[in-house]
Amino acid sequence: MMFDRSDIERVREMTNLAALIGEHIALTPKGREHVGLCPFHDDKNPSFSVVTDKGNHFYICNSCGAAGDCFRFVQEFLRKDFSEAIEFLADRVGLQLQRGSGKPDPERDQRARRRTLLKEATAAALDFFQNSLEAPEGKDAREVIQKRCIRPDMVERFQLGAAPAGWDNLRKSLLARHIDERVLIAAGLLKKRNEGDGSYDAFRNRLIFPIHDDTGHPIAFGARAIAADDEPKYLNSSEHDIFHKGQTLYGLHLARPAIAKAKKAIVTEGYTDVMACHAAGVEHVVGTLGTALTDDHVRKLARLCDQIILVFDGDEAGQRAAERAVRTVFKHPVDVGICVLPEGQDPDDMLKSDAGKLEFEHAIDHAEDSLDFLLARFRQRIDESQGISGQQRLLEQFIESLRTLGLEEVDGLRKSMLINRISELMRVPSQEIERLLRRQRGPVAANSSEQPERASTAPAIGARHVAERELLAVILYRTEAVADAGIDPSQLLDSSRFIDPIHQALAMTLSDLLQANPPTMQAILGRLDDESHRETASRLFFIGERLANAEYENNQEHPIARATRALDDCIHEDLRQQETAQWRNRDESDDRTAADLIQKIGSRRRPSAILRTGNTD
Ligand SMILES: [Zn+2]
Repeated sequence: MMFDRSDIERVREMTNLAALIGEHIALTPKGREHVGLCPFHDDKNPSFSVVTDKGNHFYICNSCGAAGDCFRFVQEFLRKDFSEAIEFLADRVGLQLQRGSGKPDPERDQRARRRTLLKEATAAALDFFQNSLEAPEGKDAREVIQKRCIRPDMVERFQLGAAPAGWDNLRKSLLARHIDERVLIAAGLLKKRNEGDGSYDAFRNRLIFPIHDDTGHPIAFGARAIAADDEPKYLNSSEHDIFHKGQTLYGLHLARPAIAKAKKAIVTEGYTDVMACHAAGVEHVVGTLGTALTDDHVRKLARLCDQIILVFDGDEAGQRAAERAVRTVFKHPVDVGICVLPEGQDPDDMLKSDAGKLEFEHAIDHAEDSLDFLLARFRQRIDESQGISGQQRLLEQFIESLRTLGLEEVDGLRKSMLINRISELMRVPSQEIERLLRRQRGPVAANSSEQPERASTAPAIGARHVAERELLAVILYRTEAVADAGIDPSQLLDSSRFIDPIHQALAMTLSDLLQANPPTMQAILGRLDDESHRETASRLFFIGERLANAEYENNQEHPIARATRALDDCIHEDLRQQETAQWRNRDESDDRTAADLIQKIGSRRRPSAILRTGNTD
């Protein structure tokens, strides 16, 4: 699928970048920027900023250099390809796209088409399930809802539905809506018959909990058995192109604003737990889908908040799940609390009474720090072990397990805190723990970490480089200033005036774009295919801002004029040096070359010709 250039521009203009990114990452307004933790690297201090300065909307990370416009963000963060990103954003702002002509990519089109079909089928099924819940055949499901005390507003908020008993209710209804049977099978809504042709409903006689993606589109279903003897009690859609359990958190699309506001997320194990919390007014709650917590889950939440509280049942299985989860979160730079509820209790049960609600809140407030939890479990094992050598072996095993969990990746402060805690717990000096860590790291790693730090090899930045950079910077910051000053962009940004290859590329792109209306940063970033070019452009924007503001404040000459003259001076100086070198190395016998050189040196006036020819005042 190809798109009209003007469509792309329109989508970009209509997209509120800070709002878009704010749906996925907690952002704090700071002047004309919004700052937050970078979603593209393990950010510990907020180094990510979304700039919405007049017409310019782009993001940049000052640590890892990720930078771009709304399309880039959707591509990189939501892992969509360019055309999917356009469709996604167009859909978001309610724009109907015109299809342009261009290079066809059948494979990508097919993939996009497949995702669209899966989405459509899932949305149609949700429709069917919701209608069934209202209809006479939804009676049993409605009884379950009543018995479980799920309030009508929660039924609506979480879009509960019913799969009627019988083998082909959904099948008949959706085939009548001309949805392809193969798509319904791929979406996990129908199952192929083992013998012969045809298919049957995957969910029968069940209460349906739709599962949504981060943006609130239904992508799958959870289904609870209605009849007491139906197995299994809970059934999920099988995974497919748009549904991956390990990347999906139940209720995130509803909980996101509350999570970002509280800077805290509570993770429970079941659909009804999530619903019970929301019903009780605790809205920063999501659920895992019957799977252990994954790195993707943690990363997703860590982008939204500073603290994650994992809630587990008090039974042995819950304890084990908690320990597994602690191991997953170990290396992530986020505070994780472990809340193990009293045995036999879950949030759903507890939140049904006022006393239970207090008890639940108390348990959440007193969640145990995940490291404490890990160490407490370890201590229990130490206490149960026999003799000094047994304890020594346990300690070694424990440290080895921390290492495999990624202790090396944990940042310095957390790491030394952890080492101190183990040292206190074991009554072993922390140097001994460090020694164990080093020893177990193995000879290769140990050697490489002891190598002296590499000397900085950054070359001294020459005056020409600075001049090139500053000119591009002031132009990037205020593209309209070029036209305002009446300067011809193709002369000003002639790529032969730039030595640095990235500067050359930027100059060419700018020169090209400046032939039409002054481009915004997002249009410029949208034109730059190379990541390093986008990064440089974004950094230069800030340099441009600083330069322009400093010069306006000091009431000096126009920043573009000053930068242009500085670059001209450098070019002039470089040429002079080249010509002097040529003069020195000239072939004494070749009079004509020498005469040419003399003429060239003599005729070259000092530059800033661009400014003089262009400037109208
Ligand atoms: Zn970053």
